[in-house]
Order: sequence, then C-alpha cells, then structure tokens
Amino acid sequence: MKLKIGHLYPDLLNLYGDQGNIRCLQKRLAWRGIEAEVRQVLWGEQVDFSDLDLVLLGGGSDREQKLACMQLSRIREKFCRFVEEGGGVLAVCGGYQLLGRYYQTSRERIEGLGILDIYSEWEPRRLVSNSILKSPLAAAPVVGFENHGGRTYIGKHEPFGRVLFGYGNTRSSGQEGVIYRNVIGTYLHGPLLPKNPQICDVLLQRALERKYGPVGKLQSLADGLERRANDMIVERYCDGAYVMRERLQRFL
Ligand code: GLN
Repeated sequence: MKLKIGHLYPDLLNLYGDQGNIRCLQKRLAWRGIEAEVRQVLWGEQVDFSDLDLVLLGGGSDREQKLACMQLSRIREKFCRFVEEGGGVLAVCGGYQLLGRYYQTSRERIEGLGILDIYSEWEPRRLVSNSILKSPLAAAPVVGFENHGGRTYIGKHEPFGRVLFGYGNTRSSGQEGVIYRNVIGTYLHGPLLPKNPQICDVLLQRALERKYGPVGKLQSLADGLERRANDMIVERYCDGAYVMRERLQRFL
C-alpha cells in the first residue's frame, strides 16, 4: 500500500512548523511498513488532485494568504471535487480560513475556496494561546498552539473540538476548527499531528480506506512519549490555579 501526500505551497504557508505534520504522516506510515510519497507543490506549480490521497494546507500571514489565494482560485473546482470525493485534507490556520468563503482582513477581503460554508473576519486583538480541545476524533485531548487575528464562523458545520483551554474559532463560541467529510480545518499549530498521533491516524486510516477499501484497524504504535507529553500539557493548562492566573493576566 502507498499514500501520496500533497503539501500545497510550503514556500508560503508553513508557520510554526506546519511541515512537521507531513513528517508525522510519513513516519507513521513507514513504521507500519506502508509507503508514502510527498509532493511539494510550490507557488505557481500545477496540482494533480487525481493523484493525491491527502493534502496539507498550512498557515501563513495575511500577505502570504493573499498570494496563496491567487493560486487557489485557479484550482477551486478540482479541490472541491477532491473534498466531495472523500479526499483527506488538513488545513491549518491561514489554510483553514482559505477553505471558507472569505477572510476579511483589516484592509481587504481575501476570497477563499468556498469548500466550506464558513467565513473569517479579522479583529485587532490577536488570539495567542496554548490550546486544548475535546474532539470527537480522538479519545485523548487534542493539544496545540494558536495565533490568529481572524475569527472563524462555522455556521452549522461540525467543530473539530470543544475548547477546554485557549480561544478557538471566535474566542466566545467554545468551538475550535471544523470537520467536514475527510477534512479537518483547525487553528492549531504546533505542529498538530506529532502532538496528537490519534488525529494523524484518523487521517491515515480514512485515506487508506478510500483508496484500498477496508484495511482493518491500523497497527498500534509505541506512543508512550507522545501520551506523556500530551498528559503534561493537559495537566499544566487545565490545572485550575494556572487557568485563573492566565485569565487574570489577560484581563490586566
Ligand atoms: N493570517 C491569519 C490570521 O492572523 C492566519 C494566521 C496563521 O496562519 N497563524 O488570522
């Protein structure tokens, strides 16, 4: 078995180590004896979605998002078809915003792909925090880091998780990210997948099943270190005293 992973515009959208998500996908396949091929699609290059199983769209500044959007508008229909046919997508922060209808920055409106009926609007106060979620996709809490000026309104879409710590989509909705078919959109950098191997395995399992039919449960891996790191973050930030201190500091 083999999966092909497309990394869209790594020369523009690769904030806070988003590339680590690709490494994690590759490694967790390799540890199970499954081949992986990564195609980096640089700005200006063509994407052949018919040859891809998973796509990563990372985060970027407003300026970089604007440049990415120029390319994305050209591949919009093919990207939509890929999603509707069950293609796997992980879109982080700026990439997540671009899946929606638009992102209104302080100066202009950046048109998105419109794959999801969501939109984002910039507000002057940036939302910067470590974050912890409870996601329907994983038994363990999902941990990460967020840093965004945009607020994302997901309407009737299902969120990626409920915020246990951090800000999430809008600071007040209590929701983070979005899930649609085999798409995960999220504000969580960090990168997301090495910190949350269960989410990585959901993407891999679904991509393998789309390509090969039922493949059975993926072989479990020795994730002891990852679990300990996850527990430590949850203990640190979900400890009542810490949360109070953080809230107070933000208030001051
Ligand atoms: N430019 C977007 C925002 O600030 C996305 C930032 C990011 O990808 N970290 O909302």
